[in-house]
Amino acid sequence: MDSDLLKILIVDDDEVDRQAVRRALDKTGIQTEIYEAATYASATDILKTQLFDCIFADYRLPDRDGLALVQSVRKEGILTPLIVLTGQGDEQIAVDLMKAGASDYLIKSKISPDRISRMLRNALRIYNAERQAALANQRLQKSYDLLLEQNQALERQRQQIYQQNLQLIHASQLKSRFLATLSHELRTPLTAILGFSQMLMRSSKGTLNEKQTEMVQRIFTNGKNLLHMLSEVLDFSRIEAHNLDLKPEIFNLQHLVTATVDEVRSLALFKEITLSAEIDLQNAIVFNDPERLRQALVNLLSNAIKFTETGKVWVEVRETQSETLCISVRDTGTGIAPEHIDCIFDAFRQVDQSDTRKYSGTGLGLAITKTLVQMMGGNITVISQLGQGSTFQIEIPRSIKDDRANSNKDDRANSNPARAFSKLAGHHTAIK
Ligand code: ADP
Repeated sequence: MDSDLLKILIVDDDEVDRQAVRRALDKTGIQTEIYEAATYASATDILKTQLFDCIFADYRLPDRDGLALVQSVRKEGILTPLIVLTGQGDEQIAVDLMKAGASDYLIKSKISPDRISRMLRNALRIYNAERQAALANQRLQKSYDLLLEQNQALERQRQQIYQQNLQLIHASQLKSRFLATLSHELRTPLTAILGFSQMLMRSSKGTLNEKQTEMVQRIFTNGKNLLHMLSEVLDFSRIEAHNLDLKPEIFNLQHLVTATVDEVRSLALFKEITLSAEIDLQNAIVFNDPERLRQALVNLLSNAIKFTETGKVWVEVRETQSETLCISVRDTGTGIAPEHIDCIFDAFRQVDQSDTRKYSGTGLGLAITKTLVQMMGGNITVISQLGQGSTFQIEIPRSIKDDRANSNKDDRANSNPARAFSKLAGHHTAIK
């Protein structure tokens, strides 16, 4: 502070008193630039245009008193330290002055360099501390305002996202409903086309020539492919609408796997691929939805055949534990690159998304298969090497949860297929 020049205003109508303050200030060693005013009016005038580091003001001014000056200065928002010079015995006045915002008061008869220096330093210290605090407060207020603004902007964005989400959900529901209706409506005429082409094939001998028979056969095969795609779209829309239920029953898994492999054998024969099944089960009896398990197996097998040009496709079935079954579909086909492995179970995702892709399909088979396996309480994994082949592995419990039985409060042993299965299979563990 001593190295800084302090700008001081002395307000006093008495020239001698002003000199006394001036002299005391000079003796403090503090560098000052001193301005003087003789009245309340001239002091308030100068304060309108200039800023000071400290004001010394006599309490008794000719036009107004020092209290009025303190009040006026503080009312104008001027926070400069203001020390009022009072007479002896003016203690009550001093209290009023301090209440009005004076920084301190000094009895005129006690003016000394030492006192004035101490008082000035004190007042300035307090003033600086207050200014720092005010600045910090201002900064805080600014950050608070900014935060408030950002919060409001975030809230607006949240609302927007919420509304967009609602719209998306609505659009997705519409899309699912549209897909369901469309595939349902298309299935009816397609079933008729398949029926008629089958009739034509049966009665073709003699009535249709070789070319015509081949054409009818193509109608039938393409129609069946189309029906399969439509069923996938329908299943997918049912899954999205949580409208797909499993209908578990007791059956022989070995029989189901063998029959399913035979079902797709013609596809493998057509591509001259070896197709086989290795079933190694201590107990082939399971409790599951045979139609949905067959569907999952058909999906994996037809993919394996579709993406294999030479070599073989084979199914392995075994028990990993007595209550867990593992079905693997292996092929020596194209394989899947590591960067594509994570997305092949997503709906509508195909490794080759180009319009000129070699292999047909909806891109829904694996998404549906994964959902079905999860609904069965199992999981599906894939190991693949580009150019070497792939292994899709399903792990499922021998006995799946029967939601229909759970919803039936009248849970008698014989009316519950899950329990009946438990008895039949000789298991004493609770049905999951
Ligand atoms: P789609 O077969 O109708 O295209 P899927 O959901 O069944 O749809 O399969 C998604 C993608 O995963 C396929 O397009 C293919 O790129 C890849 N894929 C699935 N199975 C195999 C397989 N056995 N070998 C190589 N790629 C496969």
